[in-house]
Amino acid sequence: MKLFEFQGKKIFEEYGIPVPKSCLLLSPDSECRLSFPIVLKAQVLTGGRGKAGGVVAVDKNINLSAELKSILNLKIKERTAAAVLAEEKANIQHEFYLSITYRGDIATPVLIASSAGGVDIEEVASITPEKVLTIPFNPLLGPLSHQVAYLAKAIGCSDGIALKSIIGKLYAIMRDYDAKLVEINPLASTPDGLCALDAKILLDDKAAYRQEKRFSNIIDELNNNQLPVEDFDIQKKGTITYVPLKGSVGLISDGAGTGMLTLDLIKDAGSEAANFCEMGGITSPQVIYDAMEAVVANPKVKSLLIVLIGGFNRMDEMAEGIIKFIREHNMSLPVVIRMCGTMEEVGLEMMRKASIPTYDNLDEAVLKAVALAGGGS
Ligand code: GDP
Ligand code: MN
Repeated sequence: MKLFEFQGKKIFEEYGIPVPKSCLLLSPDSECRLSFPIVLKAQVLTGGRGKAGGVVAVDKNINLSAELKSILNLKIKERTAAAVLAEEKANIQHEFYLSITYRGDIATPVLIASSAGGVDIEEVASITPEKVLTIPFNPLLGPLSHQVAYLAKAIGCSDGIALKSIIGKLYAIMRDYDAKLVEINPLASTPDGLCALDAKILLDDKAAYRQEKRFSNIIDELNNNQLPVEDFDIQKKGTITYVPLKGSVGLISDGAGTGMLTLDLIKDAGSEAANFCEMGGITSPQVIYDAMEAVVANPKVKSLLIVLIGGFNRMDEMAEGIIKFIREHNMSLPVVIRMCGTMEEVGLEMMRKASIPTYDNLDEAVLKAVALAGGGS
């Protein structure tokens, strides 16, 4: 789950990372009691706001409400801002990039930093990768003094002590929140010292089960401000993995292998999946019900293909969940189901009684789902 900048900054503040004085404005008429000049920042879950006109510095004599209106109407990478964060404008001397994330290939957390922070960091990383420094560190010890000293020198940050303190706090946030990424870009040096002008925190949805309090606080805060909770509900539901794709067939499978195979078959049939939901090993009627809810919620889905090869997974339970979902939602979307394996006879009998057709043959089921989605070769 991605946090909005204002949420990230709130966490930064709690941990003592310097951030500008700010207030969240939810509508063009919201009042703002900061001292001008201020910077208005679109709260939208994507980067590149600066370049898209979503970060605007304004002075006292502007029409704040008109400015807010235009930021709230702005399209930034297909998204519109849910709110605007107003901040007292910092006097930037230099912009650094600083983040902590995990690198799976070397199985350690890494500190990433650059002296060329700011809105062009992506270009910097691809055109002049030597300007981006990556320092792996021991997850149990955290970034060590000599690593931070080396980093400060390499990026030309003269305030090594403040940098060390910020890095320590970033890593504390990363651990406490089970974050996958904690990023400050830019980390600005100002006459008052280092200051985080942007905040990006990506939480690991798979850790939601042990972060229930934090996740629910974050979601409550969004709900209270009538802000969207994007792409999260489904991930919260335990073993389900949800992958959004580009096509028109919604796919649910009871394991990753079956899912990958079926994705290939859909492609062979000349179509493409709209999304893909894999339920993990151990399932229940509720899990398939949740998976259907997640997949069907995507308006791109024109037919739903459910492929179950029951090992641990029981077909009577799957049938129970599927029938319940279809009945409760009075579902008109075409569904193609292939089920076999554990408790197959009972499951198939339940489906027959519910007048929901099933398929024995996987290839046939795939072709049918592709045809119903209006695709195919
Ligand atoms: P992003 O483009 O979505 O990453 O948005 P940022 O919050 O990083 O802002 C983009 C750019 O706006 C920064 O790199 C700064 O150059 C500029 N900016 C943001 N806040 C301030 C500020 O308080 N003062 C000044 N002078 N510039 C700012
Ligand atoms: Mn930024």
